[in-house]
Amino acid sequence: MTTVHPAAPTALTTAEQHLLTGPTREAYRAGMAHAVDLVTDRLAAVDRPQTGIRPADLAAEIAAVDLGSPLPDTAAALDELSRLWLRDAVWFHDPAYLAHLNCPVVLPALAADALASAVNSSLDTWDQSTGATLIEQKLVTWLADRAGLGPLADGVLTPGGTQSTLQALLLARDEACARLRRDRPGARVPELLAGLRVLTSEVGHFSVVTAARLLGLGDDAVVAVPTDHACRMRVDALAAALADLREQGLEPMAVVGTAGTTDFGSIDPLPAIADLCAEHGAWLHVDAAYGGGLLVSPTRRHLLTGIERADSVTVDPHKTFFQPVACSVLLVRDGGTLRHVTHHADYLNPADAPEPNQVDKSIQTTRRFDAVKLWTTLRVLGADGIGAMVDRVVDLAAETWPLLDVHPVFDVVVRPELSTLVFRYVPEERLPDAEVDELNRYVRTAIAATGEAVLGGTTVQGRAFLKMTLLNPTTTADQLVAVLGLVIRHAETWLAAR
Ligand SMILES: *Cc1c(COP(=O)(O)O)cnc(C)c1O
Repeated sequence: MTTVHPAAPTALTTAEQHLLTGPTREAYRAGMAHAVDLVTDRLAAVDRPQTGIRPADLAAEIAAVDLGSPLPDTAAALDELSRLWLRDAVWFHDPAYLAHLNCPVVLPALAADALASAVNSSLDTWDQSTGATLIEQKLVTWLADRAGLGPLADGVLTPGGTQSTLQALLLARDEACARLRRDRPGARVPELLAGLRVLTSEVGHFSVVTAARLLGLGDDAVVAVPTDHACRMRVDALAAALADLREQGLEPMAVVGTAGTTDFGSIDPLPAIADLCAEHGAWLHVDAAYGGGLLVSPTRRHLLTGIERADSVTVDPHKTFFQPVACSVLLVRDGGTLRHVTHHADYLNPADAPEPNQVDKSIQTTRRFDAVKLWTTLRVLGADGIGAMVDRVVDLAAETWPLLDVHPVFDVVVRPELSTLVFRYVPEERLPDAEVDELNRYVRTAIAATGEAVLGGTTVQGRAFLKMTLLNPTTTADQLVAVLGLVIRHAETWLAAR
């Protein structure tokens, strides 16, 4: 009987001492502890979401690093990183970080993420993942149940909503092509693709357009459906657009309903959209990258009514489940449709493999065990614990909206359904729109330069607006009022200097 264990510690070269092996477990502990210390020191010191560092200043420091001359050890490299990155890193955990859909992250997810990196499981095949495959499958099934997708539902984790939606539309495209081919057996692929259209609202996410391009559809393949006063897809306009496509002999292969638009958090009328999809044989994809957190909300799950009729759904736990990037999920009503991405490689996942291989369902091959973060979070906080935090940020937006709405210098776009507020400062003395745009852009930049708060910015009907994206359940309404005070102060500075 021979054994390959154990390696003698003295046999390790200097480089090999950095591999995670039995003999290096103390080095592992020290390296990880050093990283943890850097974060805890930063947590103790940080008093604003951003330091206001300018790209040019950091660029010089980063350019000066000689990648050809290694430092003595991990601690030295982490200390250098601390200076190059951590010191000025945008701190999403700060209550005054209000710019994008980045969330503060929960501890169970962080610990599990470190574990996943250390073990380095890859979710492509059972022989690289063992329990990880079953954990991902159970988590996906749990989320699909929350969405109400039925007994055949399945899905897979992806690195982001952009990819989840790309894969969903790939399945929709191939289902549509299979259907069209029944009537036109001799048709060539480009002919079929040329007639396919995807409909989404005019404030739908740009990843729908990106996906259409990647899927070989024409540049005009995405039809933008007009929205109502609350930035939701207009059902009458969708019905008209679908009828129009039919008249032109084009195929509406999919409708993407958005459950939580990136700017406004508006939720499209999913039940009525589902009715129209059923009538026209179109695949319904629900982009709940942002609004997916409502699946665990103890009080607002009803806002997603209709999602149970989707053929596919995008959920981004790295937005509204307080997970570190990357963590997105693609859910499908009929797991069988995932066959459109299946490729059997003899060396990896032969067709007759008895074990479950997640690569059969993914457009990735090597793939991180991102499911473990959300799994561990659920095991600690429970769905209600996560959902209560989602509720909190939605409440916060609801509490702050009336303040903006009645305030004479603020113009607010929509009453929020989720947790964003899009508004702009409009001076009482009337100014041309272009100057109001300039004022609001100035305010955003000036606040970011001090680092006291970070606001988002966007454009609504060609005009510049400011945006608060609320994803931190510990942020208070008073803190938001203080940020609005900063907006007013900087706006007045701009007006005085004009
Ligand atoms: C963020 C977002 C996406 C893209 O998701 P990523 O995870 O950033 O790739 C898609 N749709 C909506 C509505 C989003 O808010």
